[in-house]
Amino acid sequence: MATCKGCGESVEELFVVKVDGKSKKLCEDCVDRAREEGEVAEASERAVQGMMDFKGRR
Ligand SMILES: [Zn+2]
Repeated sequence: MATCKGCGESVEELFVVKVDGKSKKLCEDCVDRAREEGEVAEASERAVQGMMDFKGRR
């Protein structure tokens, strides 16, 4: 069991996403919400690739 940093719910699975440039562990609901609000820079499965791309462009 783990606790979601977004809503404080205890969930079985957390997803690591980037919000405002920081990695956060959120439950699926919060990931969806953050994604809809445009707060997630990169989806978890693209996080590494996205970071490298981001660095390369700077
Ligand atoms: Zn949550």
